[in-house]
Amino acid sequence: MSVEYRRVRVSSALSRSGLYDLDYAYNPYAGCAHGCLYCYARAFTRYRDAAEHWGRVVYIKENAPEVLEREVRAARRGVVGVSTITDPYQPVEEGERLTRRGLEVLLGAGFRVSIQTKSDLVLRDLDLLSRYRHLVDVGLTITTMSRGVAELMEPGAPPPEARAAALERLSGEGIETWVFLGPILRGVNDSRESIRAVAEVAQRAGARLYFDYFRMKPGLGRAMGAILARHPQALDTSWAWRSRVAKLVERVCSELGLECHPPRAPSRAGGGDLTRFF
Ligand code: SF4
Repeated sequence: MSVEYRRVRVSSALSRSGLYDLDYAYNPYAGCAHGCLYCYARAFTRYRDAAEHWGRVVYIKENAPEVLEREVRAARRGVVGVSTITDPYQPVEEGERLTRRGLEVLLGAGFRVSIQTKSDLVLRDLDLLSRYRHLVDVGLTITTMSRGVAELMEPGAPPPEARAAALERLSGEGIETWVFLGPILRGVNDSRESIRAVAEVAQRAGARLYFDYFRMKPGLGRAMGAILARHPQALDTSWAWRSRVAKLVERVCSELGLECHPPRAPSRAGGGDLTRFF
């Protein structure tokens, strides 16, 4: 899938976060070339064409690190999510390095940083993350260990085994890590085998596991057409199903001796049912 990149200059780079356990967010890109079909970050992106053509239009906020540098001088220290509505290590980061430069600013200024990504490109910054390991945690989103299912749901993202290897490498460097298993979709990645395969990755790396169910947002039904064609029940997130999945995940974690965190209500500032994860 070809991606159109657009350069913009911004006047703000450090935004307040309403998400659980985050004070701020740094999103150096708008839109995401990983193009996950279930992604609801599109509903929170102010660039309309990036939202409408999710995965095919990405904005590069080219002066974000400089603006960030200015902003952190006046900001109270806190935890910064990198990122919350885009993947900070999507392919364009390899050349642009806006995530890397933002991390240098934030960590150098004593902010704590919580990174979430689907990409092993995060390993490029191992030197920096290791140096500031006391201020960093890194989460890898792994929805499934099946390459075929991942390609269906997350067509532009690195394969699950690359994410698993990145997680192990980060943990091996003494960096705090976690796995986000989500969204769990009915009939797609909710089987015991699927959940256990992801949980085993977390166990091997000594990471904790968070999980969450799919959350419907406006427009997602259309975006998820390719998933629904194969799994027509995927949007059905009844209470009974959620309860069954929660018990299943918790049982698997208990068998593996894994620290497990169920979905949590976020929002110190009105984030509704939006978790920091997507
Ligand atoms: S879920 Fe994350 S990685 Fe996937 S498209 Fe959305 S922001 Fe990108």
